[in-house]
Formats: sequence, structure tokens, C-alpha cells
Amino acid sequence: MKKIIKIFFAGCFSFLCLNVYGWNTIPPGGFKISGIPVTCGPAPTYLYDQTLGDPPLGDIAITNTNGIAINWPLFQQLPPVAQFFTYAHECGHIIQILSGSPINEDQADFYALKIGKAQGFLNLNGIQVVCSYLWSSLGDWTHKPGPVRCNNMLSAFPYI
Ligand SMILES: [Zn+2]
Repeated sequence: MKKIIKIFFAGCFSFLCLNVYGWNTIPPGGFKISGIPVTCGPAPTYLYDQTLGDPPLGDIAITNTNGIAINWPLFQQLPPVAQFFTYAHECGHIIQILSGSPINEDQADFYALKIGKAQGFLNLNGIQVVCSYLWSSLGDWTHKPGPVRCNNMLSAFPYI
């Protein structure tokens, strides 16, 4: 039996699923990580590949009211646990958008930890793997530097 990771949230909304750039649009429930379907409610997933002419994303993944956009060439280079974490983090942003909350990177990280722990794809070793990619991040106007995010996550994980 296939393991299915479902990331639910309350409420509903309609998407304007634009496909004007020829993005590879995957309907809700259709995106898979390591062969395991992942779902973020009704949010579709868009796979961007700049080498195929898609516009640059500027990050490994971004989220807006249209769904979750993934920088596919970069995303594929991550180990599965970091892929799950990234998708769950973006799903945390979908929840923020739907609830009218401001975008908050710390809350999105903690949402990913909570879902990862509950679904069994994240443990302390997995956070270390995720942090091996985050650590060198200097941060920006919304993201704290990688070491700060990692220390916060490692400290919080046992209590989530
Ligand atoms: Zn984020």
C-alpha cells in the first residue's frame, strides 16, 4: 500500500491556474516526492525549469495564491527529506495566505516540522540534512540566516 502524505488545511478557495508560460502544472494530489504523493489541500504544484524557458523563480520554491511553484532543476538535487521539508514549508505559506495571515518564515518552518514529525518524514537527523542546505543561507528581508533557522528548528523539534 502506498504511503500518502496529506497536508490538509481548513477552508477552501479557488485557483486561477494560469499556464501562460507553459509551466508543468500538476493538479492537487498529483505531485510526488520519491514516488510518494504529497498534497497541500487544493494547491496545485508548478514545476519551473528555466532551462526550458520558464521564468526564473529566484528560490528553490515559492508560494502565492496560485499554488506552489518549484524550481525543478534545483529541487531534484535535494535529498528526499529536504524535498519533503521544502514542500511542507511552502504549504505552511499556503495556509498563511488562505487564513489572511502575514507571510511568516518561522511559522512556515515550524509547520514543516510539525507535519514532518506527524507524518514521519522528519526527525532530528533529517533536520540536520535540511540544515546542511540551509546553513550557508545569509537570509534576506523575510528569511533569517540559515544558522538561526536551523538552531530554532533543532531547539523546537522535540517539543512540537
Ligand atoms: Zn518560506
